[in-house]
Amino acid sequence: MQVLKFGGSSVANATNISRVIDIVSKAARMDRVALVCSAISGCTDSLLGLARTERGSAERQVMLDSLKSRHDDIIRRLFTGAEREQISAKVQGLFDKLAAAPEDEMVTYGELFSTTIIAEKLRCEGFRTKWLDSRILVIKNNSTLTYNNISTAVALEPEVEIFVAPGFICSEYEGKVTTLGRGGSDLSASIFAAALKANRLEIWTDVPGIMTANPKVVPAARTIPEISYQAALDMATHGAKVLYAPSVQPAMEAGIAIRILNTFEPENPGTVVSLLPEPEVAEWMGVTSTDDTLAGESLICLVSNGNINGEAACARTEDCLKKAGIKTLACSSDGTNVYVTVRLAVAREALNAIHREFFEVVPLSSLNLYIAGRGAVGTALVDLIRTSGERIAERTGKVLHIEEFSSDHGIAARVRKISPRGSIFVDVTDSEDIWREYEGLLREGINIVSSNRRALAVPFVEYAAMKAAAQENGVFLRYETTVGSALPMLESISAGANSSDELISIEAVVSCTLNRILSEYTLTPCTFAQIVRKAQNEGLTESDPRIDLSGREALRKLLILAREAGVPLEEE
Ligand code: ASP
Ligand code: MG
Repeated sequence: MQVLKFGGSSVANATNISRVIDIVSKAARMDRVALVCSAISGCTDSLLGLARTERGSAERQVMLDSLKSRHDDIIRRLFTGAEREQISAKVQGLFDKLAAAPEDEMVTYGELFSTTIIAEKLRCEGFRTKWLDSRILVIKNNSTLTYNNISTAVALEPEVEIFVAPGFICSEYEGKVTTLGRGGSDLSASIFAAALKANRLEIWTDVPGIMTANPKVVPAARTIPEISYQAALDMATHGAKVLYAPSVQPAMEAGIAIRILNTFEPENPGTVVSLLPEPEVAEWMGVTSTDDTLAGESLICLVSNGNINGEAACARTEDCLKKAGIKTLACSSDGTNVYVTVRLAVAREALNAIHREFFEVVPLSSLNLYIAGRGAVGTALVDLIRTSGERIAERTGKVLHIEEFSSDHGIAARVRKISPRGSIFVDVTDSEDIWREYEGLLREGINIVSSNRRALAVPFVEYAAMKAAAQENGVFLRYETTVGSALPMLESISAGANSSDELISIEAVVSCTLNRILSEYTLTPCTFAQIVRKAQNEGLTESDPRIDLSGREALRKLLILAREAGVPLEEE
């Protein structure tokens, strides 16, 4: 036996009921079905409204007519001919009873309408169907009697393939008709499952299972594939509307897993609620909220599935709210969940902030770096990446992964062959000809970062070709460190050149090395050779200091600056 329950939006109109019929038909081909349904959406609210109107008043008639016409519309679309007339008469009979019913029983009619129509439709589809009267079988707060009633009723009908029972409604021990409370159809389904020792309990609704938050409030919410009875109960108790909290108990006691599925996406596996072993490390399951409109506050509950460090969790919660500019009115933990109170007006924002903090950790992706050159710059760069890797990961979500090569020989060509698009080739060599590989790398979708001035002081056509290759392939060619040490200035210069401004002049100390050596030469009694050697030892010069001293380095910087400013100069 399997128990399937469909909520109000799943049976809201003829189109949706047809989906339900499809799902139930498929299930019935595998095993017998007990089908429990809610009233069509909005019906229970209307009935409660109806009960507050005056008997015989025009207002009551209008409400009755509109409820009747919604059901008539469904009947018109689902049935034809004699069958339509038969079911119409049946539903009319129920409406007549409703009009005469005591006010406190009116609310129980919604499920009678919906299940009468659905049972009839399944019969027309060729299934041996039996409608069960939950008002007689389900006795409020008496599970022994209830289970006995249900199992006996089913045992009497071995031929029946599909039992159809109204959810929500039941009777008091003394026989008075009543309900299991708003949203109580889930509980009816759980009771039927326990009574029939069902091997499957499916609750079909309009969202894909229990989600990490209410998707109508938190768009990033996602389905929780598996959750323990306890965590599901916590979520339901503290505001998750997808499951009526009391419905967990009967299924849990009978050891039946509750599957929450989406009528509008039947292939989606949804959520399985079952007995799960307590995890070694607790995980966050979801965030729910209940509003206290009178106090103007919202109580947010962050649910976990185990033992948490309450103090740390509260601190993290308050911190993320603070960052979002939201004031925490109160925060506490019971060792499993975190409870936060915020003003009602900011509840939506708070739920999103907490969800972002606890449920939207973007998985780290790795980024390959191919570094050519292990001189002073290369070594410093590798050190820097190693020490700041964590911070980089935190800020960008990317783990930098340095790919080592035993030598720089032919490295660019090898990278071109093996490297995935989007990785970064770093040229910290002083090679004269590695630039010839740049364009090919860029065309393969590999980004380039270079501190190699020679690679940029190439003939202008080559320089332009590299830039074009980068742009056309959506990758970058960056060489900010070739000029101005660590100061970012190339970007400002090219931005200036690309705007309507005219660049008149650039003033700069273009060679720190020359500046340093020449200053020391005038200020100290040391010999020129001593000063150069000292600068060399401090790592201030190129490996061959003559390149600095000849002014070649300074000239190349000027060339890079000029080109950046839009002047197509050549090194010569
Ligand atoms: N129709 C009832 C209600 O709206 C029961 C249910 O849908 O579960 O509360
Ligand atoms: Mg409902």
